[in-house]
Amino acid sequence: METIYTIPIHEAYEVKCGCPLCKLEDDLEIASLEYVMGAAMMEPDVRIETNRYGFCKKHFRDMLSMQKKLPLALVLESHTKELLSALTQQKIGKKEFPALADKISTAVDDCYVCRQLKDRLSKYYSNVIHLWLVDPEFKDLTREQEYFCPHHLAGLLSFAKKELPKKFFADFYKDHTEKTAALLEKLSSNVSKFAKSFDHRFANDPLGDAKTAIEDAIDFLSK
Ligand SMILES: [Zn+2]
Ligand SMILES: [Zn+2]
Repeated sequence: METIYTIPIHEAYEVKCGCPLCKLEDDLEIASLEYVMGAAMMEPDVRIETNRYGFCKKHFRDMLSMQKKLPLALVLESHTKELLSALTQQKIGKKEFPALADKISTAVDDCYVCRQLKDRLSKYYSNVIHLWLVDPEFKDLTREQEYFCPHHLAGLLSFAKKELPKKFFADFYKDHTEKTAALLEKLSSNVSKFAKSFDHRFANDPLGDAKTAIEDAIDFLSK
């Protein structure tokens, strides 16, 4: 297993604010976007991949907001040319359709940055599980996290199933779900309180922090 990621993992866990894997993923995302719009310009292998996979709506928007119009124009120039090649084939038969459909779909439905994130995140999951298993201090640090978002919790659990000895399942589950469950319970009860406020019988009850229940719940669920 590659353990070179233990330093960024420790740094993210030391923050103890929000989901530590969200912080790691946000940092990766910024680094990946900066790479695509910078050094990757000179890397033919990466260009082949960005031409093939393109970018999802979110990452195109992020690139646009980076205000680097020339690198973005160059990325788009070669990506659109690649897509165009699938639309201007001379010899067309039934046999070519699946491959062409696949090429077009990959160019517009896939994303180079999302692929990079997924790949790196899987290494983070493995490292996190390994650290939790072998390092008691990291285990304490895990329990001190504010919470793990549902997205990364699912990732951690599915990797733990493959990489963790069975006898540690229950403890691993508890250390990673307890805070998230408590937070979700609070969000859920605030949503109920908010919904109840539409009933005239409860209209004058103070809402307190349930005032932003909808925004808070959506924010938590869509991390
Ligand atoms: Zn997260
Ligand atoms: Zn993406």
